[in-house]
Amino acid sequence: MSIDFKEIINQVKENQNKLNSCIKHDFSIDITPEKKLDKRYRCINCNGEVSSIEKY
Ligand SMILES: [Zn+2]
Repeated sequence: MSIDFKEIINQVKENQNKLNSCIKHDFSIDITPEKKLDKRYRCINCNGEVSSIEKY
């Protein structure tokens, strides 16, 4: 397992922890304004990130 791969796994886990501990998500922050597809959003309450598919 490469370091890069571990790093990605850690980030995913960290993001999941943030999302799980959030009381109420508000995905108002568009972190991929340049994209039309494959967009990602950030919750203003927990800073967790989701794809546009997970958002709904
Ligand atoms: Zn949240």
